[in-house]
Amino acid sequence: MKNKIILVQPTMGISGELACHIPLSLLYVASGLTKNKFKVIIMDNRLYPDSWRQKLLDYLDNNTLFVGITVMSGSPIANAIEVSKLVKNTGPIPVVWGGAHPTVRPEQILIKNFVDFTISGSGVNSSIKLAESLSKSIINPEEFKDIAGLGYKHNGEIICNKIYKGFEHVPYTDMPYYLIEDFSKYRQIGSTERIFPIYSAYGCPYNCAFCVSPSLYRDFKYKWVPLPAKEIVDHIEYLKKNYGATEIYFYDDDSFVNLDHIHSIIKEVRNRTLKIKMSFRGARVNEVLKMDKEYLHELAEAGTHILHIGIESGSQRILDLFNKGIKVEDIFQMNRRLSENKKIISGYNWIIGTPTETLQNIKETTNVIIKLIDHNPRCIIFPPNKFRPLPGTDLFILAIQHGYKEPATLEEWIYEELEGDKSQVWYTSEIEKMIKMLQVTSYFIDNKQVLLLKKHSFKNMLIKLLFMLYRPVARFRFKYGITGALIEYPIFQFFVSRYRK
Ligand code: SF4
Repeated sequence: MKNKIILVQPTMGISGELACHIPLSLLYVASGLTKNKFKVIIMDNRLYPDSWRQKLLDYLDNNTLFVGITVMSGSPIANAIEVSKLVKNTGPIPVVWGGAHPTVRPEQILIKNFVDFTISGSGVNSSIKLAESLSKSIINPEEFKDIAGLGYKHNGEIICNKIYKGFEHVPYTDMPYYLIEDFSKYRQIGSTERIFPIYSAYGCPYNCAFCVSPSLYRDFKYKWVPLPAKEIVDHIEYLKKNYGATEIYFYDDDSFVNLDHIHSIIKEVRNRTLKIKMSFRGARVNEVLKMDKEYLHELAEAGTHILHIGIESGSQRILDLFNKGIKVEDIFQMNRRLSENKKIISGYNWIIGTPTETLQNIKETTNVIIKLIDHNPRCIIFPPNKFRPLPGTDLFILAIQHGYKEPATLEEWIYEELEGDKSQVWYTSEIEKMIKMLQVTSYFIDNKQVLLLKKHSFKNMLIKLLFMLYRPVARFRFKYGITGALIEYPIFQFFVSRYRK
Protein backbone atom coordinates (compact mmCIF):
# COMPACT_ATOMS: atom_id res chain seq x y z
CA MET A 1 0.00 0.00 0.00
CA LYS A 2 1.38 3.40 -1.00
CA ASN A 3 1.54 5.73 1.95
CA LYS A 4 3.92 8.59 1.19
CA ILE A 5 2.39 12.05 0.82
CA ILE A 6 4.44 15.06 -0.22
CA LEU A 7 3.00 18.41 0.82
CA VAL A 8 4.42 21.40 -1.02
CA GLN A 9 4.54 25.07 -0.10
CA PRO A 10 5.15 26.91 -3.38
CA THR A 11 7.24 30.05 -3.73
CA MET A 12 5.24 33.14 -2.83
CA GLY A 13 6.62 36.00 -4.87
CA ILE A 14 8.09 39.05 -3.19
CA SER A 15 5.87 38.72 -0.09
CA GLY A 16 7.50 35.35 0.61
CA GLU A 17 10.83 37.12 0.62
CA LEU A 18 9.75 39.66 3.24
CA ALA A 19 8.26 37.12 5.65
CA CYS A 20 8.92 33.41 5.36
CA HIS A 21 7.31 31.62 8.31
CA ILE A 22 6.86 27.88 8.70
CA PRO A 23 3.96 26.63 6.50
CA LEU A 24 1.26 26.42 9.16
CA SER A 25 -1.53 25.30 6.82
CA LEU A 26 0.56 22.32 5.70
CA LEU A 27 1.25 21.37 9.30
CA TYR A 28 -2.50 21.37 9.94
CA VAL A 29 -3.10 19.03 6.99
CA ALA A 30 -0.11 16.87 7.91
CA SER A 31 -1.35 16.45 11.49
CA GLY A 32 -4.34 14.32 10.48
CA LEU A 33 -2.38 12.37 7.89
CA THR A 34 0.47 11.45 10.22
CA LYS A 35 -2.00 10.42 12.92
CA ASN A 36 -3.49 8.05 10.38
CA LYS A 37 -0.14 6.42 9.66
CA PHE A 38 0.64 8.16 6.41
CA LYS A 39 4.25 9.17 5.90
CA VAL A 40 4.33 12.89 5.19
CA ILE A 41 7.10 15.03 3.76
CA ILE A 42 6.80 18.80 3.83
CA MET A 43 8.69 20.56 1.07
CA ASP A 44 8.96 24.31 1.25
CA ASN A 45 10.00 25.70 -2.12
CA ARG A 46 10.48 29.18 -0.65
CA LEU A 47 13.60 27.82 1.03
CA TYR A 48 14.99 26.27 -2.15
CA PRO A 49 13.85 28.52 -5.01
CA ASP A 50 16.59 27.17 -7.26
CA SER A 51 16.90 23.55 -6.18
CA TRP A 52 13.35 22.43 -5.33
CA ARG A 53 12.99 20.52 -8.62
CA GLN A 54 15.76 18.08 -7.82
CA LYS A 55 14.57 17.78 -4.23
CA LEU A 56 11.07 16.91 -5.38
CA LEU A 57 12.36 14.38 -7.91
CA ASP A 58 14.37 12.75 -5.15
CA TYR A 59 11.27 12.41 -2.98
CA LEU A 60 8.97 11.05 -5.70
CA ASP A 61 8.92 7.27 -5.90
CA ASN A 62 6.61 4.28 -6.30
CA ASN A 63 5.40 4.71 -2.76
CA THR A 64 4.07 8.25 -3.37
CA LEU A 65 0.33 8.35 -2.81
CA PHE A 66 -0.17 11.96 -3.83
CA VAL A 67 1.44 15.37 -3.91
CA GLY A 68 -0.56 18.13 -2.21
CA ILE A 69 0.10 21.82 -2.85
CA THR A 70 -1.30 24.76 -0.92
CA VAL A 71 -2.04 27.56 -3.38
CA MET A 72 -2.95 31.19 -2.88
CA SER A 73 -4.15 33.37 -5.75
CA GLY A 74 -1.41 35.33 -7.53
CA SER A 75 2.20 34.40 -8.09
CA PRO A 76 2.19 31.12 -6.04
CA ILE A 77 0.09 29.66 -8.87
CA ALA A 78 3.11 29.87 -11.20
CA ASN A 79 5.20 27.66 -8.96
CA ALA A 80 2.27 25.34 -8.18
CA ILE A 81 1.80 24.74 -11.92
CA GLU A 82 5.48 23.97 -12.33
CA VAL A 83 5.43 21.55 -9.40
CA SER A 84 2.30 19.82 -10.73
CA LYS A 85 3.74 19.41 -14.22
CA LEU A 86 6.98 18.02 -12.85
CA VAL A 87 5.06 15.44 -10.80
CA LYS A 88 2.96 14.44 -13.79
CA ASN A 89 6.06 14.05 -15.96
CA THR A 90 7.40 11.44 -13.58
CA GLY A 91 4.32 9.20 -13.65
CA PRO A 92 0.65 8.86 -12.72
CA ILE A 93 0.95 10.35 -9.23
CA PRO A 94 -2.20 12.26 -8.21
CA VAL A 95 -1.78 16.00 -7.67
CA VAL A 96 -4.04 17.74 -5.16
CA TRP A 97 -4.42 21.51 -4.83
CA GLY A 98 -5.75 23.00 -1.61
CA GLY A 99 -5.79 26.42 0.03
CA ALA A 100 -7.23 29.81 -0.83
CA HIS A 101 -7.28 29.67 -4.64
CA PRO A 102 -8.87 26.22 -5.01
CA THR A 103 -11.43 27.36 -2.46
CA VAL A 104 -12.69 30.09 -4.79
CA ARG A 105 -12.07 28.67 -8.27
CA PRO A 106 -11.76 24.84 -8.18
CA GLU A 107 -13.30 24.24 -11.64
CA GLN A 108 -10.73 26.40 -13.41
CA ILE A 109 -7.98 24.32 -11.82
CA LEU A 110 -9.54 20.94 -12.46
CA ILE A 111 -9.75 21.63 -16.20
CA LYS A 112 -5.99 21.21 -16.22
CA ASN A 113 -4.62 17.76 -16.85
CA PHE A 114 -1.85 18.31 -14.30
CA VAL A 115 -4.28 18.57 -11.35
CA ASP A 116 -6.43 15.62 -10.26
CA PHE A 117 -8.13 16.91 -7.12
CA THR A 118 -8.84 20.16 -5.34
CA ILE A 119 -9.86 20.64 -1.74
CA SER A 120 -11.88 23.78 -1.00
CA GLY A 121 -12.22 25.14 2.52
CA SER A 122 -10.61 23.53 5.51
CA GLY A 123 -8.81 20.38 4.41
CA VAL A 124 -7.67 18.48 7.49
CA ASN A 125 -10.29 15.73 7.50
CA SER A 126 -10.85 15.76 3.75
CA SER A 127 -7.16 15.07 3.16
CA ILE A 128 -7.31 12.03 5.43
CA LYS A 129 -10.38 10.70 3.63
CA LEU A 130 -8.84 11.29 0.23
CA ALA A 131 -5.60 9.59 1.29
CA GLU A 132 -7.56 6.61 2.58
CA SER A 133 -9.51 6.30 -0.68
CA LEU A 134 -6.43 6.61 -2.86
CA SER A 135 -4.46 4.09 -0.82
CA LYS A 136 -6.92 1.27 -1.48
CA SER A 137 -5.88 -1.33 -4.04
CA ILE A 138 -9.03 -0.55 -6.04
CA ILE A 139 -10.00 3.11 -6.02
CA ASN A 140 -13.73 3.65 -5.83
CA PRO A 141 -14.71 7.14 -7.10
CA GLU A 142 -18.05 6.73 -5.30
CA GLU A 143 -16.16 7.40 -2.08
CA PHE A 144 -15.16 10.86 -3.33
CA LYS A 145 -18.78 12.00 -3.07
CA ASP A 146 -18.60 12.09 0.71
CA ILE A 147 -15.40 14.09 1.03
CA ALA A 148 -16.21 17.68 2.00
CA GLY A 149 -14.81 20.32 -0.35
CA LEU A 150 -13.31 17.76 -2.73
CA GLY A 151 -13.17 18.62 -6.42
CA TYR A 152 -12.51 15.74 -8.82
CA LYS A 153 -13.08 14.46 -12.32
CA HIS A 154 -15.39 11.58 -13.06
CA ASN A 155 -16.50 10.32 -16.47
CA GLY A 156 -15.30 13.53 -18.10
CA GLU A 157 -17.20 15.68 -15.64
CA ILE A 158 -15.85 18.03 -12.98
CA ILE A 159 -17.54 17.55 -9.64
CA CYS A 160 -17.08 19.90 -6.68
CA ASN A 161 -18.49 18.84 -3.33
CA LYS A 162 -19.84 21.28 -0.77
CA ILE A 163 -17.19 22.59 1.60
CA TYR A 164 -17.05 21.76 5.28
CA LYS A 165 -18.75 24.61 7.10
CA GLY A 166 -16.67 24.98 10.19
CA PHE A 167 -13.16 25.33 11.56
CA GLU A 168 -11.01 22.24 12.01
CA HIS A 169 -8.99 22.69 15.14
CA VAL A 170 -5.75 20.78 15.58
CA PRO A 171 -4.42 20.55 19.15
CA TYR A 172 -0.78 21.58 19.32
CA THR A 173 0.11 18.15 20.66
CA ASP A 174 -0.93 16.74 17.26
CA MET A 175 1.08 19.22 15.21
CA PRO A 176 3.94 17.34 13.50
CA TYR A 177 6.57 20.05 13.94
CA TYR A 178 9.21 17.38 13.45
CA LEU A 179 8.36 17.47 9.72
CA ILE A 180 9.94 20.90 9.40
CA GLU A 181 13.33 20.18 7.97
CA ASP A 182 15.25 23.20 9.17
CA PHE A 183 13.71 25.85 11.41
CA SER A 184 16.73 28.10 11.08
CA LYS A 185 15.85 28.78 7.43
CA TYR A 186 12.61 30.57 8.32
CA ARG A 187 12.94 34.30 8.51
CA GLN A 188 11.39 37.72 8.44
CA ILE A 189 13.15 40.67 6.93
CA GLY A 190 15.40 42.36 9.46
CA SER A 191 14.36 40.11 12.34
CA THR A 192 16.66 38.04 14.50
CA GLU A 193 13.76 36.20 16.16
CA ARG A 194 12.81 32.57 15.72
CA ILE A 195 9.20 33.13 14.74
CA PHE A 196 6.39 30.57 14.97
CA PRO A 197 2.92 31.27 13.58
CA ILE A 198 0.00 29.83 15.55
CA TYR A 199 -3.73 30.48 15.89
CA SER A 200 -5.35 31.79 19.03
CA ALA A 201 -8.77 32.04 17.36
CA TYR A 202 -10.39 30.98 14.12
CA GLY A 203 -12.58 33.12 11.90
CA CYS A 204 -13.96 36.63 11.97
CA PRO A 205 -17.48 37.98 12.55
CA TYR A 206 -17.03 41.20 10.52
CA ASN A 207 -18.18 41.92 6.98
CA CYS A 208 -15.51 43.90 5.17
CA ALA A 209 -16.69 44.17 1.59
CA PHE A 210 -13.31 43.31 -0.01
CA CYS A 211 -12.59 40.25 2.13
CA VAL A 212 -13.44 36.61 1.40
CA SER A 213 -13.89 35.69 5.06
CA PRO A 214 -17.54 36.82 5.30
CA SER A 215 -18.57 34.60 2.39
CA LEU A 216 -16.43 31.70 3.61
CA TYR A 217 -17.86 31.81 7.11
CA ARG A 218 -21.41 32.82 6.13
CA ASP A 219 -22.99 29.48 6.99
CA PHE A 220 -20.72 28.58 9.88
CA LYS A 221 -22.52 28.17 13.17
CA TYR A 222 -19.86 30.24 14.94
CA LYS A 223 -17.96 32.80 12.88
CA TRP A 224 -15.28 33.43 15.50
CA VAL A 225 -13.96 30.68 17.74
CA PRO A 226 -11.34 31.60 20.35
CA LEU A 227 -9.18 28.84 21.80
CA PRO A 228 -8.71 28.46 25.56
CA ALA A 229 -5.88 30.61 26.95
CA LYS A 230 -4.31 27.66 28.74
CA GLU A 231 -4.04 25.66 25.53
CA ILE A 232 -2.49 28.59 23.65
CA VAL A 233 0.07 29.32 26.33
CA ASP A 234 0.88 25.60 26.65
CA HIS A 235 1.49 25.70 22.90
CA ILE A 236 3.76 28.74 23.21
CA GLU A 237 5.67 27.12 26.07
CA TYR A 238 6.04 23.93 24.04
CA LEU A 239 7.43 25.82 21.03
CA LYS A 240 9.81 27.77 23.20
CA LYS A 241 11.08 24.71 25.02
CA ASN A 242 11.33 22.31 22.09
CA TYR A 243 12.10 24.54 19.14
CA GLY A 244 13.58 27.69 20.65
CA ALA A 245 10.70 29.97 19.65
CA THR A 246 11.38 33.58 20.57
CA GLU A 247 8.37 35.16 18.86
CA ILE A 248 4.83 33.98 18.22
CA TYR A 249 2.90 35.34 15.26
CA PHE A 250 -0.83 34.98 15.77
CA TYR A 251 -2.21 34.23 12.32
CA ASP A 252 -5.78 34.90 13.44
CA ASP A 253 -8.10 36.74 11.06
CA ASP A 254 -8.95 38.76 14.13
CA SER A 255 -7.53 38.20 17.62
CA PHE A 256 -9.43 40.95 19.43
CA VAL A 257 -13.12 40.37 18.72
CA ASN A 258 -13.43 39.94 22.48
CA LEU A 259 -10.64 41.77 24.32
CA ASP A 260 -10.85 39.32 27.22
CA HIS A 261 -9.57 36.57 24.92
CA ILE A 262 -6.09 38.02 24.44
CA HIS A 263 -6.14 39.46 27.94
CA SER A 264 -6.48 35.97 29.39
CA ILE A 265 -3.55 34.84 27.24
CA ILE A 266 -1.25 37.63 28.35
CA LYS A 267 -2.25 37.04 31.96
CA GLU A 268 -1.29 33.39 31.58
CA VAL A 269 2.00 34.36 29.89
CA ARG A 270 2.73 36.67 32.81
CA ASN A 271 1.78 34.09 35.44
CA ARG A 272 4.19 31.62 33.91
CA THR A 273 6.87 34.34 33.58
CA LEU A 274 7.28 33.34 29.95
CA LYS A 275 9.67 35.54 28.03
CA ILE A 276 8.35 35.63 24.48
CA LYS A 277 7.56 38.23 21.85
CA MET A 278 4.10 38.20 20.31
CA SER A 279 2.77 39.75 17.12
CA PHE A 280 -0.83 39.91 16.02
CA ARG A 281 -1.83 39.80 12.38
CA GLY A 282 -5.50 40.62 12.90
CA ALA A 283 -6.70 43.72 14.73
CA ARG A 284 -9.23 46.40 13.83
CA VAL A 285 -9.43 50.12 14.53
CA ASN A 286 -12.69 49.76 16.49
CA GLU A 287 -11.09 47.07 18.64
CA VAL A 288 -7.98 49.10 19.47
CA LEU A 289 -10.28 51.96 20.46
CA LYS A 290 -11.78 49.69 23.10
CA MET A 291 -8.33 49.04 24.60
CA ASP A 292 -7.49 51.44 27.39
CA LYS A 293 -4.01 52.53 28.40
CA GLU A 294 -3.77 49.75 30.96
CA TYR A 295 -4.74 47.07 28.41
CA LEU A 296 -2.11 48.29 25.96
CA HIS A 297 0.44 48.46 28.75
CA GLU A 298 -0.27 44.85 29.69
CA LEU A 299 -0.07 43.81 26.04
CA ALA A 300 3.31 45.49 25.72
CA GLU A 301 4.67 44.11 28.99
CA ALA A 302 3.64 40.59 27.97
CA GLY A 303 5.89 40.96 24.92
CA THR A 304 3.71 42.35 22.14
CA HIS A 305 5.91 43.36 19.25
CA ILE A 306 3.75 44.23 16.23
CA LEU A 307 0.03 44.83 16.06
CA HIS A 308 -1.22 44.70 12.46
CA ILE A 309 -4.29 46.84 11.96
CA GLY A 310 -6.36 46.93 8.80
CA ILE A 311 -7.16 50.60 8.29
CA GLU A 312 -7.44 50.26 4.48
CA SER A 313 -8.25 53.87 3.59
CA GLY A 314 -8.13 57.46 4.77
CA SER A 315 -11.20 58.38 2.74
CA GLN A 316 -14.50 58.21 4.59
CA ARG A 317 -16.33 57.31 1.40
CA ILE A 318 -14.03 54.37 0.74
CA LEU A 319 -14.16 53.24 4.37
CA ASP A 320 -17.94 53.16 4.05
CA LEU A 321 -17.69 51.31 0.74
CA PHE A 322 -15.46 48.76 2.49
CA ASN A 323 -18.02 48.46 5.27
CA LYS A 324 -15.32 49.09 7.86
CA GLY A 325 -17.74 50.70 10.30
CA ILE A 326 -15.24 53.38 11.37
CA LYS A 327 -14.73 57.12 10.92
CA VAL A 328 -11.51 58.78 9.78
CA GLU A 329 -11.34 60.47 13.19
CA ASP A 330 -11.31 56.99 14.80
CA ILE A 331 -8.07 56.25 12.93
CA PHE A 332 -6.34 59.29 14.40
CA GLN A 333 -7.68 58.54 17.85
CA MET A 334 -6.46 54.96 17.66
CA ASN A 335 -3.05 56.08 16.44
CA ARG A 336 -2.74 58.60 19.28
CA ARG A 337 -3.60 55.91 21.79
CA LEU A 338 -1.04 53.53 20.35
CA SER A 339 1.61 56.26 20.22
CA GLU A 340 1.39 56.59 24.01
CA ASN A 341 2.82 53.11 24.30
CA LYS A 342 6.55 53.11 23.68
CA LYS A 343 6.93 49.38 23.06
CA ILE A 344 4.28 48.26 20.61
CA ILE A 345 4.87 48.77 16.89
CA SER A 346 1.62 49.36 15.04
CA GLY A 347 1.56 48.20 11.44
CA TYR A 348 -1.14 49.67 9.22
CA ASN A 349 -2.56 47.97 6.12
CA TRP A 350 -4.12 49.76 3.13
CA ILE A 351 -5.97 49.03 -0.08
CA ILE A 352 -5.94 51.30 -3.12
CA GLY A 353 -7.37 51.22 -6.61
CA THR A 354 -10.94 50.26 -5.73
CA PRO A 355 -13.65 50.91 -8.34
CA THR A 356 -15.11 54.43 -7.85
CA GLU A 357 -12.06 55.53 -5.79
CA THR A 358 -10.98 58.92 -7.11
CA LEU A 359 -7.60 60.59 -7.13
CA GLN A 360 -8.94 62.84 -4.40
CA ASN A 361 -9.85 59.79 -2.28
CA ILE A 362 -6.32 58.42 -2.69
CA LYS A 363 -4.89 61.79 -1.68
CA GLU A 364 -7.08 61.72 1.42
CA THR A 365 -5.45 58.40 2.27
CA THR A 366 -1.90 59.65 1.72
CA ASN A 367 -2.65 62.72 3.87
CA VAL A 368 -3.88 60.49 6.66
CA ILE A 369 -0.81 58.27 6.36
CA ILE A 370 1.62 61.17 6.61
CA LYS A 371 -0.19 62.46 9.71
CA LEU A 372 -0.17 59.01 11.31
CA ILE A 373 3.61 58.72 10.88
CA ASP A 374 4.15 62.24 12.20
CA HIS A 375 1.98 61.55 15.26
CA ASN A 376 3.38 58.11 15.92
CA PRO A 377 6.97 57.37 14.88
CA ARG A 378 6.44 53.77 16.02
CA CYS A 379 3.90 53.06 13.32
CA ILE A 380 4.85 51.33 10.11
CA ILE A 381 3.00 51.72 6.87
CA PHE A 382 2.65 48.54 4.88
CA PRO A 383 2.69 49.23 1.14
CA PRO A 384 -0.90 49.67 -0.05
CA ASN A 385 -2.29 46.50 -1.56
CA LYS A 386 -3.79 47.00 -4.99
CA PHE A 387 -7.46 46.20 -4.78
CA ARG A 388 -7.96 42.68 -6.09
CA PRO A 389 -11.56 41.64 -6.74
CA LEU A 390 -12.05 38.31 -5.02
CA PRO A 391 -14.95 36.06 -6.01
CA GLY A 392 -17.56 35.87 -3.28
CA THR A 393 -16.92 39.38 -1.95
CA ASP A 394 -19.34 42.31 -2.20
CA LEU A 395 -16.77 44.38 -4.06
CA PHE A 396 -16.31 41.66 -6.66
CA ILE A 397 -19.80 42.52 -7.91
CA LEU A 398 -18.94 46.22 -7.96
CA ALA A 399 -15.77 45.46 -9.91
CA ILE A 400 -17.75 43.45 -12.48
CA GLN A 401 -20.12 46.42 -12.83
CA HIS A 402 -17.08 48.57 -13.57
CA GLY A 403 -15.84 46.31 -16.35
CA TYR A 404 -13.65 43.88 -14.43
CA LYS A 405 -13.03 40.66 -16.31
CA GLU A 406 -12.07 37.83 -14.07
CA PRO A 407 -8.98 35.91 -15.26
CA ALA A 408 -10.28 33.45 -17.82
CA THR A 409 -7.55 30.90 -17.19
CA LEU A 410 -5.57 29.62 -14.26
CA GLU A 411 -2.42 31.12 -15.76
CA GLU A 412 -3.95 34.60 -15.87
CA TRP A 413 -4.48 34.44 -12.10
CA ILE A 414 -0.69 34.47 -11.66
CA TYR A 415 -0.68 38.18 -12.43
CA GLU A 416 -3.44 39.02 -9.93
CA GLU A 417 -0.86 40.13 -7.40
CA LEU A 418 -1.22 42.76 -4.73
CA GLU A 419 2.10 44.32 -5.66
CA GLY A 420 2.04 43.48 -9.37
CA ASP A 421 1.92 45.68 -12.44
CA LYS A 422 -1.59 44.82 -13.59
CA SER A 423 -3.93 47.77 -13.97
CA GLN A 424 -7.71 47.69 -13.85
CA VAL A 425 -10.12 49.09 -16.43
CA TRP A 426 -11.43 51.69 -13.98
CA TYR A 427 -8.01 53.26 -13.36
CA THR A 428 -7.54 56.65 -14.98
CA SER A 429 -3.99 57.32 -16.14
CA GLU A 430 -3.52 59.67 -13.14
CA ILE A 431 -4.70 57.00 -10.72
CA GLU A 432 -2.47 54.42 -12.33
CA LYS A 433 0.58 56.66 -12.00
CA MET A 434 -0.36 57.48 -8.42
CA ILE A 435 -0.71 53.81 -7.49
CA LYS A 436 2.67 52.99 -9.02
CA MET A 437 4.29 55.81 -7.10
CA LEU A 438 2.69 54.73 -3.81
CA GLN A 439 3.66 51.10 -4.34
CA VAL A 440 7.33 52.06 -4.35
CA THR A 441 7.55 55.03 -2.01
CA SER A 442 5.43 53.58 0.80
CA TYR A 443 8.26 51.20 1.66
CA PHE A 444 10.41 54.19 2.59
CA ILE A 445 8.19 56.86 4.15
CA ASP A 446 8.25 55.74 7.79
CA ASN A 447 10.84 54.38 10.21
CA LYS A 448 10.82 50.71 9.16
CA GLN A 449 14.59 50.63 8.90
CA VAL A 450 14.91 51.54 12.59
CA LEU A 451 11.92 49.58 13.88
CA LEU A 452 12.31 46.35 11.92
CA LEU A 453 15.90 45.90 10.77
CA LYS A 454 17.40 44.49 13.94
CA LYS A 455 19.72 41.99 12.36
CA HIS A 456 23.28 43.09 11.62
CA SER A 457 24.01 41.91 8.12
CA PHE A 458 25.45 43.24 4.91
CA LYS A 459 22.02 43.06 3.26
CA ASN A 460 20.43 45.13 6.03
CA MET A 461 23.24 47.65 5.86
CA LEU A 462 22.48 48.09 2.17
CA ILE A 463 18.77 48.47 2.88
CA LYS A 464 19.50 51.09 5.54
CA LEU A 465 21.73 52.96 3.12
CA LEU A 466 18.97 52.83 0.52
CA PHE A 467 16.56 54.21 3.13
CA MET A 468 18.92 57.03 3.96
CA LEU A 469 19.34 58.03 0.34
CA TYR A 470 15.86 57.49 -1.02
CA ARG A 471 13.63 58.28 2.00
CA PRO A 472 13.58 62.09 1.48
CA VAL A 473 12.62 61.60 -2.18
CA ALA A 474 10.00 58.98 -1.27
CA ARG A 475 8.41 61.18 1.39
CA PHE A 476 8.36 64.17 -0.94
CA ARG A 477 6.72 62.18 -3.72
CA PHE A 478 4.28 60.53 -1.34
CA LYS A 479 3.28 63.70 0.48
CA TYR A 480 2.75 65.85 -2.60
CA GLY A 481 1.61 63.13 -5.01
CA ILE A 482 4.55 63.65 -7.41
CA THR A 483 4.34 60.89 -9.99
CA GLY A 484 6.56 62.25 -12.80
CA ALA A 485 9.81 60.57 -13.93
CA LEU A 486 9.18 57.53 -11.75
CA ILE A 487 12.36 55.71 -12.67
CA GLU A 488 12.12 53.78 -9.38
CA TYR A 489 9.06 51.87 -10.57
CA PRO A 490 10.70 49.68 -13.26
CA ILE A 491 13.38 48.77 -10.71
CA PHE A 492 10.68 47.83 -8.19
CA GLN A 493 8.84 45.71 -10.77
CA PHE A 494 12.09 44.04 -11.73
CA PHE A 495 12.32 42.73 -8.16
CA VAL A 496 8.64 41.73 -8.08
CA SER A 497 8.98 39.75 -11.32
CA ARG A 498 12.23 38.18 -10.13
CA TYR A 499 10.34 36.52 -7.30
CA ARG A 500 7.44 35.42 -9.53
CA LYS A 501 8.77 31.95 -10.25
S1 SF4 B 1 -10.72 42.10 6.58
FE1 SF4 B 1 -10.30 41.23 8.59
S2 SF4 B 1 -11.85 42.13 9.91
FE2 SF4 B 1 -12.57 42.41 7.83
S3 SF4 B 1 -13.87 40.64 7.42
FE3 SF4 B 1 -11.82 40.14 6.68
S4 SF4 B 1 -10.84 39.07 8.35
FE4 SF4 B 1 -12.62 40.15 9.19
